[in-house]
Amino acid sequence: MRTQEILNKEYLEKNDIVALLSTQEDEMKLLINKALKVKLARLDNYVHLRGLIELSNICRKSCLYCGVRSDNPNVERYTLSEDEVVECARLAHQLGYGSVAIQSGERSDKEFVDKITRILHRIKQIDNGSLGITLSLGEQSEEVYRRWFEAGAHRYLLRIESSNEELYYKIHPQNERHDFHKRLDCIDALLSIGYQTGTGVMVGLPFQTLEILADDLIFFREKDVAMVGMGPFIPHPDTPLYAYADQIPSVKERMNLTLKMIAVLRLMMPEINMVAATANQTIDPMGREKAIMAGANVIMPNLTPNKYREDYLIYPDKACVSDKPEECFSCLDIRMKAIGHEILYNAWGDSVAFTKKTK
Ligand code: SAH
Repeated sequence: MRTQEILNKEYLEKNDIVALLSTQEDEMKLLINKALKVKLARLDNYVHLRGLIELSNICRKSCLYCGVRSDNPNVERYTLSEDEVVECARLAHQLGYGSVAIQSGERSDKEFVDKITRILHRIKQIDNGSLGITLSLGEQSEEVYRRWFEAGAHRYLLRIESSNEELYYKIHPQNERHDFHKRLDCIDALLSIGYQTGTGVMVGLPFQTLEILADDLIFFREKDVAMVGMGPFIPHPDTPLYAYADQIPSVKERMNLTLKMIAVLRLMMPEINMVAATANQTIDPMGREKAIMAGANVIMPNLTPNKYREDYLIYPDKACVSDKPEECFSCLDIRMKAIGHEILYNAWGDSVAFTKKTK
């Protein structure tokens, strides 16, 4: 079937998705343009911001792709103080970002859980709860997820990393700390508690096929998640998966494949929030713009104090590590206007798909 015919279909089957992910050149452009059109029709040209606070690089996990894995001795470990996190949130509020995302290496000890709970209460006190809060703090018990929800977090990001169990265990150690089914259970718990739940995958992993990527997109649709984050895999020299760096698609191919994943998902789930991940910008200076033009509608400018950023290198050469928050702010505004988009300031920018479902 020709690309145009597939693009005219109401519902995409797996073989349609694989065909769209295989498109190149003009056919790929057709796909991207259709996705942009769908996004503009359903969500307008708005871009939502989440000020990203990278709370700590201390992690009890050892994911085979991640630069801050516990088995990497070359990382100087840090944790922001409660005051530092609240200061970052204040800055987000001053800059008009409307919401923050707190991300961290995974810890589940009581001290950590309590600290996050206190931070949530304090952020909620800023201007009478005007900031939205997304958490990305890995796998926790249902009770902890519930506690943080009650303390004011309303969105949670937990990428499945791959919905294919076999591939999951090729990119994670096989032990009780890296359990595919536990991760699935966590996503289900987040959904049932009432978080706007986000998940996602890396694109261009070793052993990943277009069929597997198509299944990832179908997984997002079946789970009916509110948000998705997908970015290119970037091999980190201090990780086991670096051994396969010469066996993965080229930088350009990974970029294009990520854009196609975003575009196809925009057709499948027109009203979800989709982030233009920083990893896109890391491998291509225009990567975030390209992701926005392929259907993404969220950007997460980094608000982590600059002195810590060099230590939160989940992948190498991360973009904007030396930018000051104020610089990011004006840079982003100009960049989004240049591609006909408008940043919506002072708003939570909730997922329209989620809002409609829960009304
Ligand atoms: N500990 C949290 C946050 C992880 S960092 C959690 O487990 O959810 C956020 C995301 O960065 C991960 O989910 C992963 O998809 C992505 N990531 C990690 N290493 C990467 C790499 N080398 N290249 C590209 N993305 C990577």
